Amino acid sequence: MSYPACPKCHENYTYEDGHLFVCPMCFHSWDKMAQAAAEEALITRDINGNILEDGDEVIIAQDLKLGKDTIKQGTKVRSLRILDEPHDGHDIQGRVAGFGTLYLKSSVVKK
Ligand SMILES: [Zn+2]
Repeated sequence: MSYPACPKCHENYTYEDGHLFVCPMCFHSWDKMAQAAAEEALITRDINGNILEDGDEVIIAQDLKLGKDTIKQGTKVRSLRILDEPHDGHDIQGRVAGFGTLYLKSSVVKK
């Protein structure tokens, strides 16, 4: 098992102490459960809980209103990109035929 880098000083000398991770460089310690939760938060999942990655092809899981248009359920989304920073509540981006590149939410697509 590899230990996470220290979130405070970013050095890689982390060791375990009970339920804590400890950094000997700056003496910061943090909870293992918090670490696991933070890592989980970085993972983007579709409506079924499958992990989404850059370049994936997914389909729209429900009809989506886009202005006066509707993107129908089952529409393909190509060249998926996972956004590092959410954009207006959207966490993924992809190309939809007829609509171009759109910001989407991972909760409305499936692999
Ligand atoms: Zn540190």
